[in-house]
Amino acid sequence: MDPSSRPVSIVAGEGSWLIDAEGKRYLDGNSSIWTNLHGHRHPSLDAAILAQLGKIAHSSFLGLTHESAVCLAEELLAYVNRGQISTGLNRVFFSDDGSTAMEAGLKMIVQSFAQTGQDQRTEFISPEGAYHGDTVGAMSLGKSDLFHRHYQPLLFSSRRVMTPFCYRCRFNRAKPEIADARSYRECKFECAVQAEEEIARTGTRLAAWVLEPRIQGAAGMVMHPAGYAKRTCEAARKVGAKVLLDEVMTAFGRTGSALSAHAEGVSADIIALAKGLSGGYLPLAATLATEEIFQAFNGPTENTFFHGHSYTANALGCAVARASLALLQDPKEQKRREVLAQNLSQLSLEFWKHPHVGDVRQEGTILAVEIVADRNTRKPFPAAERRGACICQTARDFGLLTRPIGDVLILMPPYSTSPEELEQMVTGLRKAIAKELSA
Ligand code: PMP
Repeated sequence: MDPSSRPVSIVAGEGSWLIDAEGKRYLDGNSSIWTNLHGHRHPSLDAAILAQLGKIAHSSFLGLTHESAVCLAEELLAYVNRGQISTGLNRVFFSDDGSTAMEAGLKMIVQSFAQTGQDQRTEFISPEGAYHGDTVGAMSLGKSDLFHRHYQPLLFSSRRVMTPFCYRCRFNRAKPEIADARSYRECKFECAVQAEEEIARTGTRLAAWVLEPRIQGAAGMVMHPAGYAKRTCEAARKVGAKVLLDEVMTAFGRTGSALSAHAEGVSADIIALAKGLSGGYLPLAATLATEEIFQAFNGPTENTFFHGHSYTANALGCAVARASLALLQDPKEQKRREVLAQNLSQLSLEFWKHPHVGDVRQEGTILAVEIVADRNTRKPFPAAERRGACICQTARDFGLLTRPIGDVLILMPPYSTSPEELEQMVTGLRKAIAKELSA
């Protein structure tokens, strides 16, 4: 193995920094794969875990319950339903990670229809490139050729509609500009129309429209044009189907609000949460559901939702998640997050100075920079050249750790990142681009 591509061995973390076994410090440019919110070793998160550890680390959630989980469930619902917003979500099902939160959500939908006289509703529709995790159900809803092709025989069939991706959309007639492609698109919103049509065609067989609202993460930080989520979710409701939103990456202030769905006033029947739920400290997930879904499981034993994990509602995870939620709602922290997003927006303009940057897109504290062989035609580099991976490898030399998705470079700083640290992240990535891609 080329020594430069060996995994970095992380021994410690401190705020927005990761420290390796040799003492070298790196900025955590993707918040430890989109999980970390408030920085590493945050005093109040550490204290919450220690306090819980003084009582108990874990006990089964089968037929038992505990204070941390009950309080977290209440606080989580208050967080997503606060202010003017009422999502209609009022039930919480705990699990371990994003994949299992989605797996539970899709099973709840199928079973709740079956138990309320609509067992023909077994179809799911989602956009191309959707990613919901690596368990069999989540893979079936998502299906990435690269990740999942060997498992095709194991996956259930589900329907796809085109990705709402303005920069690479065949219907977008606009010539490339130095701006986020969504801001100058010239089209008839064909992506929304196609989704609406497919939803209408599937009609009473449709169980759910499944969407990562506003941003498809693993598809390459594909940021949807405003209004897409609203139109498509309304289309699903019209045919009596459910809306299953995957907010595993987009929740907890990442795109500005508690849930990304809030930005479009979209309501869901089920929302999957994970990653930032515990502030990025421990594996913990939650599937939020409406009362209507919950009630479908009332009745005889065979109506039970037979789904549980050994570590469901782990007490340490619940305790740290409560501390994280409290921080998220602290006005000082909210302000800090807003400033971080504004600074990121300002600094992102610098990327355009490089001629191989084709698109720079941002939502809240998530920035994606897409590099291309030719800016004028949007022609990509040959995938085999792995330009994005090479740039991120080189970024390590400039004290930045992040991972690309193909040729999409990502910065998603923890909210603890200071203006100086943010500038260092952007500079590190720009230097790596300059070194790897001579103009
Ligand atoms: N949904 C989305 C939108 C994700 O980004 C991911 C992980 N990247 C998952 C689901 C799966 O989450 P996990 O890795 O925690 O299983």
